[in-house]
Amino acid sequence: MSTPTKYLLPESQMPKFWYNLQADLPRPAPAVLHPGTQKPITPDDLAPLFAQSIIEQEVSLEREIEIPEPVRDVLRLWRPAPLLRAHRLEKALGTPAKIFYKYEGVSPAGSHKPNSAIAQAFYNAQAGVKRLTTETGAGQWGSALALAGQIFGLDVTVFQVRVSYDQKPYRRALMETYGARCIPSPSPETDYGRRVLAERPDHRGSLGIAISEAVEIAVQREDTKYALGSVLNHVLLHQSIIGLEAMEQMRMADAWPDVVVACTGGGSNFAGLAFPFIGHGLRGGGKPRIVAVEPAACPSLTRGQYAYDFGDTAHLTPLTKMHTLGSTFTPPGLHAGGLRYHGMAPLVSHVRELGLMEAVAYNQVDCFAAGVAFARAESIVPAPEANHAVKGAIEEALRCKREGRSETILFGLSGHGHFDMSAYQKYLAGELKDETYDEKELAQALSGLPAVRP
Ligand SMILES: *Cc1c(COP(=O)(O)O)cnc(C)c1O
Repeated sequence: MSTPTKYLLPESQMPKFWYNLQADLPRPAPAVLHPGTQKPITPDDLAPLFAQSIIEQEVSLEREIEIPEPVRDVLRLWRPAPLLRAHRLEKALGTPAKIFYKYEGVSPAGSHKPNSAIAQAFYNAQAGVKRLTTETGAGQWGSALALAGQIFGLDVTVFQVRVSYDQKPYRRALMETYGARCIPSPSPETDYGRRVLAERPDHRGSLGIAISEAVEIAVQREDTKYALGSVLNHVLLHQSIIGLEAMEQMRMADAWPDVVVACTGGGSNFAGLAFPFIGHGLRGGGKPRIVAVEPAACPSLTRGQYAYDFGDTAHLTPLTKMHTLGSTFTPPGLHAGGLRYHGMAPLVSHVRELGLMEAVAYNQVDCFAAGVAFARAESIVPAPEANHAVKGAIEEALRCKREGRSETILFGLSGHGHFDMSAYQKYLAGELKDETYDEKELAQALSGLPAVRP
């Protein structure tokens, strides 16, 4: 008898609470500091940017936080998301390992991003906010917030990193279809954008610059708040629904992972999948190995410093301790635009410092090769970001083959690649190159890290 391929949870079993790993950590994460005073920030410092209920989640140490019913009602459009067993990939690799993947490409925007966008739009609408500003790299977060804004009646303005705006015109069309406004960044619409353009009119942009522009607009207007698609504690919290569902689905499959793999840009889909498993381990359950996969061209976890840094390039944000390449570092224009961020979520960085996870980096051509192998075996075309997780999972499966071990691998397939086919086209034509950053630029960005008094 063959084992099933797909594990679906009934709607009634969609989680009613998000999970906050901070409640189970042996040591709390370092404080977030005010950039002027270098004292821990207070909720009031964040009030110009975020609605009160979001700030409460940002600083909460509660283990479980209830998912509001109107949010669950929207999430039910595509959740619970499926867990699948990659039988054909296992066979193609000739591995004794069992490979499972949690698929987030079933959301209307095609990635895990709406899991947080829906929650953020709901809390802002509830607080009487009229407009949200945000940044987007590849366009995944921008389209997620655009659809969430449409559902809850908010205007959405998206600053999209210039290189992605040019590479991925259909993401912009999707954002505009949902009613959002999409502006390439750096833009002439903000003081900071004008400054960057004056220095380098052909600047290809970065998430750090786009964040600065979105924050600048948000702080100027009472009715406008800012939304971030990754990195912050509340975003990681909203994404925990991925891992909570996956735990139930692994139980349905009568299996449990020996290793959990996910890609990391700012860390949200990784934390969403992995943190519930890490917490389960810290509370006495089984402890799978946890592996983060990042691009070799933007390697914050494997090559960055663990230091206080700004989240944006204009230095408008608070200082957080994280693995960083330096806030002025401009990553090369790799196709996994969602992974082009100079920093890592402070909570993911802290978990790494606690020794609760590992990190590896791969080049983009190897990741596309893995993505094509996955598509040919499992039929789903992964997003370029998700190809990093696929590559990580395949490497684990090949290790199992060499060692003759039938381990269970769970990885996060964070989104589909239907808007990224031009990158696949390039790969298939043999034209995709590995991007490398300039070591001198990295050294310079790291030497500019803010001095923080101990
Ligand atoms: C945005 C994005 C990522 C990277 O962001 P994280 O916050 O690290 O998850 C990964 N995969 C997809 C499909 C994305 O859209």
